[in-house]
Amino acid sequence: MMLIGVGGVFRQKIAASLDQQIRDALDQEWAGLRGYLRIENNRTIWFYDRDQPDESFFIERLQRVYEVADAEGRILSDERGGIQISEIYESLGRDTPTRIAPVLNSKQPHWEVRKTAKGVPYLIRSGVIYDEDDRKPFFVAIGRSLVDNQHILGQFTLTWIAIIPAVILTGCLLGWFLAARALTPVLEVAQAAQRISGSNLSLRIPTRGAADELDYLIATFNRMIQRLENSFNQMRQFSTDVSHELRTPITAIRGQLEVALFTASTVEQYREAMLNALQDTERLSQIVRALLLLSQAESGQLALQKTRLDLSKLVADVVDQFQIPYEEARVRLTASLPPECSAEVDRIQIERMVSNLLSNALKFTPAGGEVRVSLENDAGSVELRVEDTGCGIATAHLPHIFDRFYRVPGHDASGPERGLGLGLSFVAWIVKAHGGVVRVESTPGKGSNFIVSLPVAEPVVPTAEPTDVAVPSGMNEL
Ligand code: ADP
Repeated sequence: MMLIGVGGVFRQKIAASLDQQIRDALDQEWAGLRGYLRIENNRTIWFYDRDQPDESFFIERLQRVYEVADAEGRILSDERGGIQISEIYESLGRDTPTRIAPVLNSKQPHWEVRKTAKGVPYLIRSGVIYDEDDRKPFFVAIGRSLVDNQHILGQFTLTWIAIIPAVILTGCLLGWFLAARALTPVLEVAQAAQRISGSNLSLRIPTRGAADELDYLIATFNRMIQRLENSFNQMRQFSTDVSHELRTPITAIRGQLEVALFTASTVEQYREAMLNALQDTERLSQIVRALLLLSQAESGQLALQKTRLDLSKLVADVVDQFQIPYEEARVRLTASLPPECSAEVDRIQIERMVSNLLSNALKFTPAGGEVRVSLENDAGSVELRVEDTGCGIATAHLPHIFDRFYRVPGHDASGPERGLGLGLSFVAWIVKAHGGVVRVESTPGKGSNFIVSLPVAEPVVPTAEPTDVAVPSGMNEL
């Protein structure tokens, strides 16, 4: 549409300029005519030097389309009787007195387009030339063919009509080419992305080194795949760990039952086998309970029941509960607590957190050791420390101790006292749900120091841990 509009404007401009050209040419011819033509006694006299080729050519050209008539439309003759109307003008039609009158009455040149019998258009310029003696006006008209102009305009229109589809086609091709160029890398990325599945999450889409938006998209996508891979790996590890953890007590129960069935002969032997089997069953249900609780916690089903309470008192109560087992293990348990420390927390979860830390400290501190619990109230946050003089944790294991089922190799006693490896996962969740952070400082052979920071000013709404897959992930980032 725009191309047609532009073509129309161009055509108009060209037509106007061609029209102006032909009018200028006719004005010039008219000026020449006035120099060469005299009218005396109703006769025309052409004053020019016939031996001069320029002048002869000019007059010849002028007389190709011309007419000289009086007011009544009578065509004049020259001194030799030559009729003053050209053949072409004759075919345009002689001028009648009614057409002549307005021309003679006006001082301005008169312009009109007329067609011959065959339809050839001519631009006619007419005006007045006076008799030299009695100032009688005569009608004189000259003309030029408009065929060339029409031809030029026709050519232009044809060319433009031919150009429009060519321009459209070129535009389409160019658009297609550019779109293809721009989309090829996107398609490559999509194909690479399609090759990535759950079983080959290690694949990455190579960046093109262009540092453009697409490279940024690829890098973002790769990071997302990395997170997915981590989650998948954690999920696999988790399944392996769970099956392993469940298999151990099941195998033990089975063994005890076999003993009872095939080898035990005395009541004591039966009783012992049954007791062992019962203990393993207890461990089994302990694992299942803990797992259930943990998955509820991480999926957001375990909402915190926060109340404002005195943390000092809460910690003192838990410390009291641990005094007897600590005495039995000959480990000194001391607490340094402020008289009061108000905080909005979930009592049960915070008790569970302190218990887990205290039972770990007891488990990994040999007889004669010491565990110190302290609470400090600092601007806006509370810091709880559980310091022991136990075996400590090597730096390499520190990032993993909050993962489920992770137990530092060599730390654990086997048998019913063996930990589940879930205690610190709970601690991590509880701290995070309260909007706090937990960190560990530990020196192997000297002891460990677990430091929990909880905000007290602004209570935090617990949220499920965001994960890329619907499987609970590890908590080692806490
Ligand atoms: P567990 O049931 O085995 O105690 P946790 O998740 O509570 O599981 O702890 C994970 C591992 O971290 C423990 O098995 C132990 O190896 C290590 N650990 C935790 N607390 C201490 C500590 N106070 N001293 C030394 N090692 C510890």
